[in-house]
Amino acid sequence: NNSPSHNSSSLQPSFRIVRMCSTASEKAHFILPDDQPIVRLEVETAFNGLTTSEKLYSHYVSQASWYGGLVVLFQTSPESPDIFRLIHTINTAESVESLKDKSLAAGLSETEFTAYLIYCSGFYANMGNYKGFGDCKFVPNIDQAVMEKLVKSSAAFAGNNSILDIWNKVKDKMFSLSDKERQLGLGEKGVTKYFSANCEAKDSDVVNAYLKHKNIEGYNNRVIKTEEGGKTVYEIRKAAVQNSVLCEEEYKGCTFKVTTGDYQQLLQKVCENLTEAEKHCANDLEKNMLKQYCLSFQTGSLDNHKDGSRYWIKNKGPMVETYIGFIENYRDPAGMRGEFEGFVSVVNKKMSEKFQVLVDRAEELLPQLPWPKEFEKDAFLRPDFTSLDVLSFAGSGVPAGINIPNYDEIRQSEGFKNVSLGNVISSSYGGTKRSTFVTLEDDVLIKKWKVPSFELQVGLHELLGHGSGKLFYKEDKAIKDPFSEKGDAISSWYEAGDGYDSKFTTIGSSYEECRAECAGLHLCMVPGVTEIFGYSGEEAEHIKYVNWLSMVHAGVKGVEMFSPGSMEWKQAHSQARFVIMNVMLEAGEGFLKIEKVTGEDGKPDLLISMDRSKLESVGQPAIAKFLNKLQVLKSTADDKTARAMYGELSAVTGAGERPWLAWREIVVARKQPRSILVQGNTRVENEKLELVQYDPSPAGMVQSWKERFPDMACLDKIIVDVAEKEGNHWA
Ligand code: ZN
Repeated sequence: NNSPSHNSSSLQPSFRIVRMCSTASEKAHFILPDDQPIVRLEVETAFNGLTTSEKLYSHYVSQASWYGGLVVLFQTSPESPDIFRLIHTINTAESVESLKDKSLAAGLSETEFTAYLIYCSGFYANMGNYKGFGDCKFVPNIDQAVMEKLVKSSAAFAGNNSILDIWNKVKDKMFSLSDKERQLGLGEKGVTKYFSANCEAKDSDVVNAYLKHKNIEGYNNRVIKTEEGGKTVYEIRKAAVQNSVLCEEEYKGCTFKVTTGDYQQLLQKVCENLTEAEKHCANDLEKNMLKQYCLSFQTGSLDNHKDGSRYWIKNKGPMVETYIGFIENYRDPAGMRGEFEGFVSVVNKKMSEKFQVLVDRAEELLPQLPWPKEFEKDAFLRPDFTSLDVLSFAGSGVPAGINIPNYDEIRQSEGFKNVSLGNVISSSYGGTKRSTFVTLEDDVLIKKWKVPSFELQVGLHELLGHGSGKLFYKEDKAIKDPFSEKGDAISSWYEAGDGYDSKFTTIGSSYEECRAECAGLHLCMVPGVTEIFGYSGEEAEHIKYVNWLSMVHAGVKGVEMFSPGSMEWKQAHSQARFVIMNVMLEAGEGFLKIEKVTGEDGKPDLLISMDRSKLESVGQPAIAKFLNKLQVLKSTADDKTARAMYGELSAVTGAGERPWLAWREIVVARKQPRSILVQGNTRVENEKLELVQYDPSPAGMVQSWKERFPDMACLDKIIVDVAEKEGNHWA
């Protein structure tokens, strides 16, 4: 599980349902603005502290991550791989300056050329044309005809007809914004690459039943439905270098085929680089870990990836921390299939010491959580908890903290690791813009305390949020149900073959984030906790208040991530924060107020007011009660009650005291775009490995990607091969 930064504002559809964007203001929801903030992910000091061998290890795992990250193109939308081919062929063929000169000569304005660079930056950062945070499509902020001029004036185009073929293939999809294309989703609700285009929710249910029957977890597969001789055939295709058919059988009147070979050529590059990295490992745990990952990517075996993860959790406190594979299932409409991510980061020793104190004190903090002690794990598995500065993070975005592995069986009995991504938090909060939806007085507090309060929240969220609680199985059925007045035993539990994700499916990610966020809110109030991070007295009071206020702020801003087109939430964390905001509102007694007002600019605005004198007397008890409920329903596999409760608290409607569907327009109109992070590259220079960093600008972002994959001819062949193998099941 990961926690994205609260600095979360991205593009979402307007709530009016229209076929195509007819006006400029409507299109504004689907473009990256001309003043798109771009910041550099600073890592130089941390990187320079590494030994030669640690640097080489970092380099090869980064290479593996970047190649693997391209898998996300294939996991996002049908057109993403070809858009990548188009822009990357153009960008690698000449310098940004030269492309600019030619574009201007062809009639583009400076602004139009910059809009092209911003589109490319967003595309590279999200690894596709849908936002990694919010799952909403974005299109270039220039017309198709203008883009065509740029394509035709580029050096890539001169004497090369194939670029025109790619352009003709993508030029409509790159700009189109039909209802279905506006967001990711299953069937009529949106676009997905986790299921072939002919699949709907009922197909996902049938496949889910089969996977459970076979005890297969979803992480590294996709589903392709075909009809053969009047019979429905479901292919469960696993990511792997090797091509094979693992099994073919009948189940509930359908044919099921489990195969391997998805993303073949990209995973081959991942394996080659991991094998190189093996030569520079710090110890045997790392060596064995990389071997298992390679085996998993070679054969599609999730068991190998689990074994790799087992070595990984045993490798405590390494200088260079990494993880790679099909990890987070936020973007699969069925909530099971993992998106590829890979990262390399360097330990920040000073900050890590604070987290270590938190780990040391975990055993005394866990009983402070509001559930009965039977609902907590038998023994706290002391995880590694470090603060890391990210060197490379490949995938659809960079989170602020991570708690992995996501495999229940390992988390429950063997352990997990927490990481807080320090340089991501500090760069995401670099802005000095006026915070929306709060008073001037609160804005001052937020500016001053948001970084330390977020560091605290991420620490508690990951370690004692995701890291807490127990799942019950049949052998636990004598446990007392805390909600039963008669003292009855629990009436539900997980069956063999069930896991949290397969039981909670569509609400699973968000519900778990909500649990972790509530744990952070609850525990930051416990005496002594802020002191671990070095804050006491008045400072501690400010940090607690800013933490709670930021949560509500994120809840209000998060409503942007609700898609009125499909009436679904598109971002797990945003939904979770919206739910928490509602719990605080329901606590009553004037603790929290959110109202529509007229803003400083005379336009409609929203105002959050939290009575900080009631944090302890009203806020905390309400969150504790809710958190207890979340945990008990999770422990007892009671997804039915959980869905009803969570659905009610997540509802976005146009009626009532707080008509969020209408207020969403205000939120969207006042959104501040999420920053794009420019990451560095490592390269070998005079037999020495060095770090290259880039300008925090659209041109710098494009340059960084250009130098990351300079040989487009070679990369193009790999992408085309993966696409050919993938077939035409997606559009
Ligand atoms: Zn989380």
